[in-house]
Amino acid sequence: MSNKNNWTIAVIGFLVLVMVPLINQNPYYIHLIETIMIYSILLFGLDIVVGYTGQVSLGHSGLFGIGAYTVGVLFLKFSAPFWLILPMGIAITALFGAVLALPALRVSGPYLAMVTLAFGTIIQILINEMTFMTEGPMGIKIPKAVFAGYKMDDQTYYWVVCFFLALSLLVVHRILKSQLGRAFEALRGSPIASDCMGVSVYKYKVFAFVISAGFAGLAGSLYAYSEQYISPNTYNFELTVLFLLATIMGGRKTRSGAILGAAIIVLLPKLLDDLEIFRYVSSLLAIAIFLGAVIAVSKNRTTLKSTLVPVVGTCALAGFSFVLTNITDWRLSIFGLMILFVVYYLQDGIIGFFKGALKSSHKSEQVNLSNSILAMSEVHRNENSSKSQHILVAKNILMQFGGLKAINEVSLTIERGTIHGLIGPNGSGKSTMMNVLTGIYHPTGGQIDFEGRTIIGHTSSDIALSGIARTFQNVQLFGEMTALQNVMVALHHTFHSNLLDIALHTPRYSREEQTATQKALGLLQFVGLADLAYEEARNLPYGRQRLLEIARALALDPHLLLLDEPAAGLTSPDIKELVRIIRKIKENGITVILIEHHMDMVMSICDTVSVLDFGQKIADGKPADVQADPRVIEAYLGATPA
Ligand code: ADP
Ligand code: MG
Repeated sequence: MSNKNNWTIAVIGFLVLVMVPLINQNPYYIHLIETIMIYSILLFGLDIVVGYTGQVSLGHSGLFGIGAYTVGVLFLKFSAPFWLILPMGIAITALFGAVLALPALRVSGPYLAMVTLAFGTIIQILINEMTFMTEGPMGIKIPKAVFAGYKMDDQTYYWVVCFFLALSLLVVHRILKSQLGRAFEALRGSPIASDCMGVSVYKYKVFAFVISAGFAGLAGSLYAYSEQYISPNTYNFELTVLFLLATIMGGRKTRSGAILGAAIIVLLPKLLDDLEIFRYVSSLLAIAIFLGAVIAVSKNRTTLKSTLVPVVGTCALAGFSFVLTNITDWRLSIFGLMILFVVYYLQDGIIGFFKGALKSSHKSEQVNLSNSILAMSEVHRNENSSKSQHILVAKNILMQFGGLKAINEVSLTIERGTIHGLIGPNGSGKSTMMNVLTGIYHPTGGQIDFEGRTIIGHTSSDIALSGIARTFQNVQLFGEMTALQNVMVALHHTFHSNLLDIALHTPRYSREEQTATQKALGLLQFVGLADLAYEEARNLPYGRQRLLEIARALALDPHLLLLDEPAAGLTSPDIKELVRIIRKIKENGITVILIEHHMDMVMSICDTVSVLDFGQKIADGKPADVQADPRVIEAYLGATPA
């Protein structure tokens, strides 16, 4: 679906939401929808963490509670007004988000789940115990919100929540489309590549958590006014699990998925209380999934086989609902089965399933390429340098993995403006050298100076930003992002706009986004990928993926470019094209270190070649000399016959 369609649906949906209280004044339903909207706001935020950065958080009910209790405490102790409490709720919760994230995000996977779970539990206990502030288990009664002297009735408050839902949707959408969203998505795609493109994984994980917490805070605050009573046991483990489920079931990386997920977790328990409604809804669901599958298969989006299970599953559920005579005993089992089913068979969630079915093939936007300046042309700054002739000097590098010396006292001197080949048999330590030079490994010993300054002890992202870019032997692209977005991640350093610029789309942000887009398109054109700009990276042929990595690396505006076997897996015409590209990179003043197995390529384009064998440097010099060196021949051909 195109962007415009999405917005049309959003606007129509919003208008319908706004009209609900005018059509149906039943406070029960109004409150139900209000709760769904509030949960949706939280889920927008949770999706940033779960869907985009790919982290787990079991602490979001705790954050939700902090938002609610900010309202409670500020009202109880200071009688603070609504307009002040709401921003405070966001700010304080965001602060707690930072407190949670800073230590928690040093760990990942199951450990992160444990830490966030502990956080949520501690928050709940604290709310319970800090009676002097929170009234403990008694809870706090909160009166209806008052704004500008006007006491809001249920209907007005419903509209206030509508307003904040729309605002949150817009802001989240803008964040996720901006350089921040790209950074979040990139670190899920490949943390190593993110760091090496100057996007610090740790920093942006924390940032994602803080933003996510802000939304949880807003949701919590709105919830407190909506319920008009808060008590500690609401913000428990079960709620946190429900939030995660909603994100997974609705579908990650979509706002509609968040809203659907919220609706599911609010309505499902009620649905499973009433057999009639359950029959009705499960039939509807079965029909919808069936139609989705038919469209998907007829458009060749998926295979019949992969849609079979969802279709049969939902039909079976619908059939089962008519056999059932009493639902109460089956509630939990049905709920559990549905969850299992979604997690297993609809991994992109319900919205993801339909998106896949309805996706129309992309039409790339027409962009005027003529004024797209190659980022290259700006790279000249390192050419006319008064700086030393040696761009990189590595001395006595030792890299030890346990007992294995992967690099054993190797020294390298890279001359500015040259192509320096690094060759050697498999396992001789070439890639390890590259990882040491880009801060992925910290060497056991030795010194590395880049442009006169040491890089030992610096993080990968700092090293990247100081001017060393690289590609990877086993391609490390951000698979779910388009080729264009991949390159734009590496242009992150060109952005100076902050969260407010992004939320308001200030001229500064728009200008930066536009410049970056043009630059990225220029770079794609440079490596011959202009017509694949809007294709997801994971769908590109392997050879193109390697070229995309080069374009992305160039976006960093590097002084030194490290290429780790760029020709591996390329056809010979592609290799010719690659050679042309590498020459052109050199012409633009960028120094290149090239690891390669294709000897004719190395010999033809390298100015200098160093040879590694078993972690040691065995030769260094002009290509022709190195090629004739008996030790090199021996290393490549095995022991010379006696
Ligand atoms: P090349 O790129 O020259 O083929 P590598 O640099 O990938 O070789 O590997 C050199 C040696 O270091 C190999 O023996 C490899 O097994 C070892 N090595 C590389 N990285 C690690 C690591 N993270 N842990 C343990 N051993 C490693
Ligand atoms: Mg290697």
